[in-house]
Amino acid sequence: CPAMSQIAEDIGRALEAAQLTPYRVATVLAPAWTTDWITAEAREKLRVYGIAPPTGNCGSAAHASAAPQEKVLRFVPRALPAPACPRCGSAHTERLAQFGSTACKALYRCLDCR
Ligand SMILES: [Zn+2]
Repeated sequence: CPAMSQIAEDIGRALEAAQLTPYRVATVLAPAWTTDWITAEAREKLRVYGIAPPTGNCGSAAHASAAPQEKVLRFVPRALPAPACPRCGSAHTERLAQFGSTACKALYRCLDCR
């Protein structure tokens, strides 16, 4: 994610503002983060902010099939239900673009409340 360095800086500023020093921000890449880790509270905060919380993982499923010494991963699109509108709750939404302002956000429109 291109925002990782900014996220680390934001965390540092928040820790300093709370006088929680010294600190060290550690970036841990394994296991890989997935939207399944988003808590119910955080999903509700996203919805209130106007972002439909993800309904599954990033839309891909990894399949491994290779000899034991090989590690081949294939990512294939997986059909996910359209997200509910964060404003009116309607499931009558359509996808306008796979990628929105960032590569990890798709852009949807609510066909009921617009
Ligand atoms: Zn709506």
